[in-house]
Amino acid sequence: MADTELASALTKRVTSGLAFQKCLNPLCGADFDVGQVKTACDRCGDLLDVEYDWSRVEVPQNLADFERYWSRRFEPLRFSGVWRFHELLPFAPLDKVVTVGEGQTLLQQANWVGKYVGMDEGRLFLQYEGMNPSGSFKDNGMCAAFTHAFMTGAKRAACASTGNTSASLAMYCSVTQLMKAVIFIGSGKISYGKLSQALEYGALTVQIAGDFDDAMIRVREVSKDLGIYLVNSINPFRLEGQKTIMYRVLEALRWQVPDWIVVPGGNLGNSSAFGKAFQELLHLGLIDRVPRLAVINAAGADTLYQLFDRRNLRWNGGQPDRLISCDYYNDLDSRRAKADTIASAIEINRPVNLVKCLRALDVCDGVVRKVTDQEILDAKAQVGAGGIGCEPASAASVAGAKLLRQQGIIAPSDRVVCILTGHQLKDPTATVAYHTTDQDKFNEVLGSRGVTRASFANRAVAVPNELDAIIRAIQLYS
Ligand SMILES: *Cc1c(COP(=O)(O)O)cnc(C)c1O
Ligand SMILES: [Zn+2]
Repeated sequence: MADTELASALTKRVTSGLAFQKCLNPLCGADFDVGQVKTACDRCGDLLDVEYDWSRVEVPQNLADFERYWSRRFEPLRFSGVWRFHELLPFAPLDKVVTVGEGQTLLQQANWVGKYVGMDEGRLFLQYEGMNPSGSFKDNGMCAAFTHAFMTGAKRAACASTGNTSASLAMYCSVTQLMKAVIFIGSGKISYGKLSQALEYGALTVQIAGDFDDAMIRVREVSKDLGIYLVNSINPFRLEGQKTIMYRVLEALRWQVPDWIVVPGGNLGNSSAFGKAFQELLHLGLIDRVPRLAVINAAGADTLYQLFDRRNLRWNGGQPDRLISCDYYNDLDSRRAKADTIASAIEINRPVNLVKCLRALDVCDGVVRKVTDQEILDAKAQVGAGGIGCEPASAASVAGAKLLRQQGIIAPSDRVVCILTGHQLKDPTATVAYHTTDQDKFNEVLGSRGVTRASFANRAVAVPNELDAIIRAIQLYS
């Protein structure tokens, strides 16, 4: 079928209930039209999922059937690493789909990093989501949420952000000129790489005297009051786009399911989306087993670890014991505890997708671990030394894989995919401070985070401006 025919066929089916929004809480189970703009269930306030009547979707029989789109890369929707899997997220008619060329990412077999993690040769892979147009995995989700916003006639879109969501939203707005971006950031924490994107792309940037969790509360109030479309990962359409990261991992492994997916956990959108992706692929008979999922918190923002690993909070068929999370949050509030980690993209204490992530952990027999900023930065240095590099939050996945290897939970022969969520250049301050020879600079940026050493620093060599001295230095150090 030509894309135009497919588009009109899908338009018809979408409007007649092929895709819909459904409350996560099985006791409520309310559903809503796909064209409605919501961030929570009207009836019970729980999160929403995007669901499909799969019996009416023309899903390929085999995942390998998606390869037929490879020869049509000149069509923007088949070039997109998200929309060439449209049949697995068919909530929008193809003629409404927005793309800027997201999802051209790389799964790299990473033996240098694999050795650091403790894996056998050829068993560790890095999924470089920093290669997206705005430099982070957020583009996978943003093109989907932006498409829904466009479908529903939105003129303005907003988000609270530790940086990458705002960079991504601002980019979609500037490339397409379809909407105006309004972004909320906390004070001080956002890295320059990310802030510079939002500013240059022309987003209205509102800096709140508070942290990410504060900005998140405010943006929900403001978008409700002003009717601005909200694109945070509480938006279920974001997660539909983020499912495709897993499709591309499978594609790069020639449709074989790895043993482990290891991902950093912040607002828990990615981990939730991955679980949903595998649950659906299993339901559709496109895979016959799911990988195990490891979600890695930073030690300074470890709500999921505390709730899942320490307090045994579980999905429990959609009825998690909410007293456990309420008590935990009350305790955080009474101690005025704030998230604190060099991995600013996961510096979040109240993950909005907590319950969806519990479901993903249930589906994928998951584990949760926390890693220190020291472990994150050392892992990040190793990722850079062996590959394309990443920002601090991303390296939590590699540090977490190393920890799980040490604990004997990951076997050296397992096939492990670590998700590198953001580009190396997003946060140069952390990288330069790690490699600096200036102890004051090191202490200023990293010392307060409990980072005491740069185990894999590659320091610049200072030499006088004299030929002999330069030659001597090169011979000495190379
Ligand atoms: C947003 C972000 C995360 C956190 O992902 P969640 O889906 O919120 O858990 C991790 N790393 C980077 C680079 C990010 O931008
Ligand atoms: Zn509900």
